[in-house]
Amino acid sequence: MKRDHVLTWDQYFMAVAHLSAMRSKDPNTQVGACIVNAQKRIVGLGYNGFPMGCDDDVYSWERDGDYLETKYPYVVHAELNAILNSIQNLAGCTLYVSLFPCNECAKAIIQSGIARVVYEDDKYDGTPNNVASKKMFHDAHVELVRLPYSLKVRVEPIDHE
Ligand SMILES: [Zn+2]
Repeated sequence: MKRDHVLTWDQYFMAVAHLSAMRSKDPNTQVGACIVNAQKRIVGLGYNGFPMGCDDDVYSWERDGDYLETKYPYVVHAELNAILNSIQNLAGCTLYVSLFPCNECAKAIIQSGIARVVYEDDKYDGTPNNVASKKMFHDAHVELVRLPYSLKVRVEPIDHE
């Protein structure tokens, strides 16, 4: 008898996105992204972090204060990192991301040729940035799929000596 109660593909790749998010050093928001091609192979992974060479111990994760002392001018979002880390042409691929993409990532997603975005959280729904994302996705015919929070996957890092 085979096991029937298994993860769907959407749940599986979203779980990989969540696993990637656990690499983020951001104390407030951990976002992960996973790009999958038509053969259901993972071709890109990312999480929110600073660019190469920009030291996590030097750059600030603050959200408030002098702009140049906050994370905002420096952080690379999970979706953009997944695109930049990808190993193939992304035309027709699906991007899994735990949080609905911002307008800047939406531009990169569209220009990379990604055809479908699967997300869970949409906590910024209705904000101008979010509205701009949805307007661009709509006009570019990128399919949007909201995945219910159906996962009970729990992974915790353990400390090694
Ligand atoms: Zn973004």
